[in-house]
Amino acid sequence: MSDTIFGKIARGELPAELVHEDDRALAFRDVNPQAPTHILVIPRQAIAKLSECTPADNELVGHLIQVANQVARQEGLDDYRLVVNNGAGAGQTVFHLHIHVLGGRPLGWPPG
Ligand code: 5GP
Repeated sequence: MSDTIFGKIARGELPAELVHEDDRALAFRDVNPQAPTHILVIPRQAIAKLSECTPADNELVGHLIQVANQVARQEGLDDYRLVVNNGAGAGQTVFHLHIHVLGGRPLGWPPG
């Protein structure tokens, strides 16, 4: 499993503006925000992308979604979008599973 920027953030080797941290997950602000709130939720465990998750990861994936909901609430958001880019063709650039939490402006549909 190759290391990534997010692996380094998870281990505290690179700085990030953390908004949540627990034994399984972290949430931190995206360095290049696409909305007034743009937070990334990641597992500590190095899973490259969502499609690598198996039923054994169900509890972890559920926890990541709960963390995403919690940070959105912390940000005062009622309406927000969760995005997971799975694979380069879908826009994934960092191969450590992450959920984007986007909000604070009207969000168009469909996304690009
Ligand atoms: P992806 O394109 O893989 O779905 O999303 C990767 C996200 O990570 C991008 O929105 C990008 O701005 C963000 N990002 C890349 N490098 C860093 C970093 O070093 N720190 C933080 N906080 N965000 C990063």
